[in-house]
Amino acid sequence: MKAWLKNNLANLLEYSGLNALKRWLRQNSVVVLTYHGVIPRDLIKNEEHLFEYRNVVTQEDFEKQIQFVRRHYIPLSLNELQEVIGGRRQKVCRPYILITFDDGFENNYKYAFPVLKKYGVVGHFFLTTDFMGSQKMLWTEEVNYRIMHTQKKRIELVIGGHRYEFPTGTVAQKEHASIRLRRILKLQRRPVIVEVLRELREQTPDVVLEALTPERYRFMSWDQIREMSRSGMIFGSHTTHHFLLNNLTAEEVAHTLAESKRVIEQETRETCNYFSYPNGEKENFSERDTRILMRLGYRFAFTQIPGFNEADFIPLRRYALYRINISHFMSLPIFKSIIAGTWIH
Ligand SMILES: [Zn+2]
Repeated sequence: MKAWLKNNLANLLEYSGLNALKRWLRQNSVVVLTYHGVIPRDLIKNEEHLFEYRNVVTQEDFEKQIQFVRRHYIPLSLNELQEVIGGRRQKVCRPYILITFDDGFENNYKYAFPVLKKYGVVGHFFLTTDFMGSQKMLWTEEVNYRIMHTQKKRIELVIGGHRYEFPTGTVAQKEHASIRLRRILKLQRRPVIVEVLRELREQTPDVVLEALTPERYRFMSWDQIREMSRSGMIFGSHTTHHFLLNNLTAEEVAHTLAESKRVIEQETRETCNYFSYPNGEKENFSERDTRILMRLGYRFAFTQIPGFNEADFIPLRRYALYRINISHFMSLPIFKSIIAGTWIH
């Protein structure tokens, strides 16, 4: 569908009152938004690689979104969620909303934090602790970056005993290869991923990671995290290394969940009770992981399964809460309709 037609349709949903009706019906729900990067529009230069910015929202759009949710929702901090579940908060006929960020990019500190402060909204930041203060790449992003930037016309990889070919001659082929390879790897064990990554590096020596755009790829420093923490922002774990929990053995899961929690608590001097699953789809975590989270004292965990959290059901789903991912390709009218639940992205 053409973009202008989509926008007009989405506008119709807002101005016809349908979104308002949905919000009224969801007044006992908690809507959780997921962001990754926030960057000013004029710093997003690399137009031909817009695909790499799919999880980046411009600072201008982010501010409009926060303004909107401030008016039509009740922004909440995770520390207040227990009161909502217990029915101890006075209701004002609007749904609750939680703003979350995955991974821990420095652009969150530079461009999202000032907006959150301006509107008095608490942000929740899930950190991949080994990466803080670095410009290393998360493995999923390295796979994507190498494929998008290599001059090679095809890549061949053996994964779990099977040989795969990935044509990478055109931008469309690269995007397809990136999605396909990451989809395959996300279901493998950690040693297989490490081996494929080594092989991919060998096959793409022309890709220079030193050329990384800092605005997009640099992670927050602990000093920046402490400053945000002092202003009331809340930090949770997103593992130490961003391997998906289904890539790991039970021992590895227990280790990464305990270690990331310990580091965050040591650096911020605040308890770390919250977790977001890397990738966060239903195949990326299981009962086993829920038990480990519980044992370690985590109180809530967030998936990337789209949906709305009905307050009465949160205690039953406290380790599998729904979230709505906000991406680069969302105009404001579509944003309004997606978070009202009248539009499926
Ligand atoms: Zn992540």
